[in-house]
Amino acid sequence: MIKRLVIANRGEIALRIQRAARALGIETVQIHSTADAGTSFVRAADLAVCVGPAATADSYLNMPRIIAAALASDCDAVHPGYGLLSENPEFAALCEESGLAFVGPRAECIAKMGDKIAARNVMTAAGVPCVPGTNDPLPDDLDACRTVAAGIGYPVIIKAAHGGGGRGMRVVRQSDDLAAALKTTRAEARNAFGDDTLFMERFLDRPRHVEIQILADAHGNAVHLGERDCSMQRRHQKVIEEAPAMGVSRALIDATAAACLRACRDLGYAGAGTFEFLYQDGEMFFIEMNTRLQVEHCVTEAITGIDIVQWQLRIAAGEPLTLRQEDIALHGHAMECRINAEDPETFAPTPGRVRDFIPPAGNGIRVETHLEPGAEVPPYYDGMVAKLVTSGRDRTEAIDRMMGALAALRIDGIQSNAPLHRRLLSHPAFREEPQTIHFIEHLIAPEA
Ligand code: ADP
Repeated sequence: MIKRLVIANRGEIALRIQRAARALGIETVQIHSTADAGTSFVRAADLAVCVGPAATADSYLNMPRIIAAALASDCDAVHPGYGLLSENPEFAALCEESGLAFVGPRAECIAKMGDKIAARNVMTAAGVPCVPGTNDPLPDDLDACRTVAAGIGYPVIIKAAHGGGGRGMRVVRQSDDLAAALKTTRAEARNAFGDDTLFMERFLDRPRHVEIQILADAHGNAVHLGERDCSMQRRHQKVIEEAPAMGVSRALIDATAAACLRACRDLGYAGAGTFEFLYQDGEMFFIEMNTRLQVEHCVTEAITGIDIVQWQLRIAAGEPLTLRQEDIALHGHAMECRINAEDPETFAPTPGRVRDFIPPAGNGIRVETHLEPGAEVPPYYDGMVAKLVTSGRDRTEAIDRMMGALAALRIDGIQSNAPLHRRLLSHPAFREEPQTIHFIEHLIAPEA
């Protein structure tokens, strides 16, 4: 087993990882920036090491400093959480070269699936349908791109092969707009991801986002933990997630998941991972794989009773999976609301000091947060400050519990998107049945 773990992340997920480590008897070393000194997740760890100033480039993304902190504090493993360095193959390789177990797949797998074009090819080979599109990088030549787009059929979406976080994507509705869209997306991709390779897909007009959670060990065993529906998005960023995905046939999920597990075996993939799909007209189309823990893993934990983070640690320590597919059952329904420090109307970030904080509690309510009264929400980092997770016998009960949790949640001093969540969850169409990825944008700007 791992003896001492470095947590190379911050906020709610740092506390979540500390909890999983503690349950397995693993000591925790929490890295942090100067801006995060004194925070709950720093105080809660067995040991804390400051690795640099506030800017992420100098602290949470500072690979040499993080490795040095891990070695100096006698750690044997590193958990990268989500975001930050979690899908950086260079960091995974650096950990392994330094004698530290990286809690995640091998660097080679991260690199391969981090390239969305390569990922499309892996999935096609495993027999998984992808959104109709290109399996090669787009050429520089505009006329050649026009031919590709015409072949796919408008509207199309141009995407950065190395994109993430909902950035580096642009919808093109007609051939006249293609040239400008290619130019802007290429520049954006180069700036944001250091690589301007692009590809193109058909833009589906009313899909749901459905994703499959898997766990694979280093011995060739792999299971899936069912699916999540993450269609409630704003600017391609998830806002509410739920599990299971209502109305999607079990047979389709099982067949798609079986192909995902084949892809894992083909790749020699070990760790937790998520295969993301768009679901429309009864079909699933692969869009990308995330080779890390996801923000929304809690809804899967709620309906399976399986601790995904503990399994990540056990897999990284070389333990074989003892879960068998036939033993994994889905019970009830779970919802997650991401509470962001942002203006509920304009969505502008609202950093500042939290004067009072009272989390909701009760049957079927789980809160993941690092907030506490007096906490500072710094302007430097992601604005997600809490996750509310509710579960119930069915979707309606999970939604009702979430409404109760939102009503009980108290965050004074900064604004949050809680009002948006209440609006979404009380909307008759949403309560009636799951909606497409365009629901929020239509709700906010109905005339658009
Ligand atoms: P990222 O890596 O930035 O998260 P994804 O490829 O996972 O990008 O896409 C994020 C979101 O963008 C999807 O959940 C979906 O809402 C939207 N999207 C992506 N591809 C398409 C497509 N071909 N058609 C319609 N919407 C899409």
